[in-house]
Amino acid sequence: AAQPTESNVDVLIIGAGPAGLMAAAWMAHCGVKTRIVDKRNTKIFCGQADGLQCRSLEIFDSLGFADRVWKEANHMIEICMWNPGQDGVIRRSDRIPDTIVGLSRFQQIVLHQGRIERFFLDNIKKYSKDSIHVERGVLPESLEIDEANVDDEDAYPVTVKLRTLTDEEATPAQQVTGSKVSDGLFRSNLTMEDDEEELIQKSKARAGESEIVHAKYVIGCDGARSWTRRALGFELQGEATDFIWGVMDIIPITDFPDIRMRCAIHSADNGSLMVIPRENKMVRLYIQLKEVAPDASGRADRSKITPDLIFGAAQKILSPYKIDYEYCDWWTAYQIGQRVGTRFDAHNRVFLAGDAVHTHSPKAGQGMNVSMQDCYNLGWKIALVAKGICKRSILSSYQSERRQVAQDLIDFDHKFARLFSGRPAKDVMDAEGVSMEEFKDAFLKGNLFASGLIVDYGPSNIVVKPGNPAAEQSNGSEKSITEEEFADKQALASGLPVGMRFNSFKVLNQACARPWHFQERLKADGRFRVVLFAGDILNPSQKDRVDKFCSLLDSPTSFLRRATPKDKPIDSVIEVLTIHSSRRTETELLRDFPATLHPFDEHTGWDYNKVFVDDASYHEGYGDAHKNYGVDRERGCVVVVRPDQYVGWVGEIEDFEHLQGYFEGCMVLR
Ligand code: FAD
Repeated sequence: AAQPTESNVDVLIIGAGPAGLMAAAWMAHCGVKTRIVDKRNTKIFCGQADGLQCRSLEIFDSLGFADRVWKEANHMIEICMWNPGQDGVIRRSDRIPDTIVGLSRFQQIVLHQGRIERFFLDNIKKYSKDSIHVERGVLPESLEIDEANVDDEDAYPVTVKLRTLTDEEATPAQQVTGSKVSDGLFRSNLTMEDDEEELIQKSKARAGESEIVHAKYVIGCDGARSWTRRALGFELQGEATDFIWGVMDIIPITDFPDIRMRCAIHSADNGSLMVIPRENKMVRLYIQLKEVAPDASGRADRSKITPDLIFGAAQKILSPYKIDYEYCDWWTAYQIGQRVGTRFDAHNRVFLAGDAVHTHSPKAGQGMNVSMQDCYNLGWKIALVAKGICKRSILSSYQSERRQVAQDLIDFDHKFARLFSGRPAKDVMDAEGVSMEEFKDAFLKGNLFASGLIVDYGPSNIVVKPGNPAAEQSNGSEKSITEEEFADKQALASGLPVGMRFNSFKVLNQACARPWHFQERLKADGRFRVVLFAGDILNPSQKDRVDKFCSLLDSPTSFLRRATPKDKPIDSVIEVLTIHSSRRTETELLRDFPATLHPFDEHTGWDYNKVFVDDASYHEGYGDAHKNYGVDRERGCVVVVRPDQYVGWVGEIEDFEHLQGYFEGCMVLR
């Protein structure tokens, strides 16, 4: 065979599911040289994940395609609970809102994973100027890390040998051959055989092509059976349960009244069912399969699982209501297992994300969301380090931040899956059964968790909170903030907890009066943001505070100046945004606000998109941003927002030195 070609790349992503595509999107938005490979050639598929939580929609909006998802999706408004009555017949026992009111500007929706992947691909193509595309039918054969060079900023210490498959090799086998309906078993956890080895051997035997890639960073997003994880020798910890569930996407013909609602149905003796109304008249049924149980080795025989078996179980649970279908779009089955990866990275050079480091039941609709959010956390960090903007030390925060989320998810799922799969209690004395009150309570709490909005990252050099381990180790030069100091600072913006995502309320553009959800201004372009709550700028003493802050920002030694390359606009690495509380009509952008807050460009004039006012709009009401953010209208404060919209630091307008310290801690300042 010919010698394999060799090349260098900044980032190599293995796997193009939701996690891998999110990572690729960051690289496209930040302009980082990247390749992304996937062993499968299935360009579009139906089924798989479909639930999208509020946080994922906020993230899509930051990337620029939430509108496409929002338009096409089915919106989930209400959840109905169905339980057996005294007579054992199922009846509606409760209704609750699907998304907790007021949590986000978005609500939970459903749209199948294939569409989400499509939107990602379009977005990546646009932002990478067509330079990043998924290379299909390509898989890694070996991975080596040159440990001697992992700390060298300029090195390409990870070497991966890639192999190209034939079309036939890259096409996943279907459970039912010849059927028009696609099944998703090849992606399900019931498929256990490690087929990579076989594919590699076959390809070698026919002298298939291979190449060697030297990468600065590798991200393993290759799903629950992750090859990358195995290549690193890392494990998933946790266990499989005995619960096996089937999933079908059908257009139902039924007299069940709540078929267009999200339903949780517990039958007396026939198991449980979840109904998820979908786009295009489709409905997804999640059905517990009592007929298929795992054997002594803990594995179920997937050859027994057919659409008829799954649907028969659904009919029994729904009885006395009738359900039938003519059209089935997709089906699969899975065994519920709850596992978390022991490690999420090797030498901060190879990272694992998504199902590769956490698996759990799909019913809470979390997998795709949490997987994408892993890479929403990781992508910008790798991009900014690869570009020499941030220090390598920020990469450690990926594992500390996301492993906690994965653990919380597993704990949540553990509880939820048991409540869901269990038989309803007959009465209070029925200890083996599941109390329906407990189930409803878990559902309500679960909704908060499932929104993705309560993620609260712990202390690090990019989240200034008490107890930062890195700061505590360094002999006092970088002291961790004390509980008291922190409480004082956090009180300046009580609605913007450090470590949580920057919540969104409406403000108006000072120059043109257009209302904006403030989060819409926090685009995923890799920039940190300093949000100056400027207070009442018409009060001379307050104006004086703001002027001083701006003159410090302007000084040649400020983090803002030193972070920005000489030939780049002043807002290219860190953007300063302002929200003030004076009346819009009494303030003037050019008269009342220092130029630093709306920088001048000799070719295009003043920047009119950086100063906002907390005032009433003509058409969209009043966002009351100061009240909602918990910020004093007179005195304001300063907040640092990370590129992924998480609050990193809160301080007084006078706390410039600490603000400078924040950026000295995480950025390469020139
Ligand atoms: P995957 O989507 O598994 O993507 C991994 C990719 O890597 C694949 O494209 C694969 O071909 C590729 N790959 C694997 N090995 C290699 C290799 N060696 N080399 C190259 N490429 C490789 N989640 C939700 O949020 N909501 C839901 O409602 C929901 N429902 C689900 C229903 C079902 C039936 C299933 C099975 C899952 C569901 N999930 C749901 C979970 C969700 O699908 C996963 O959590 C999500 O797809 C994980 O994304 P990922 O990118 O980490 O991995």
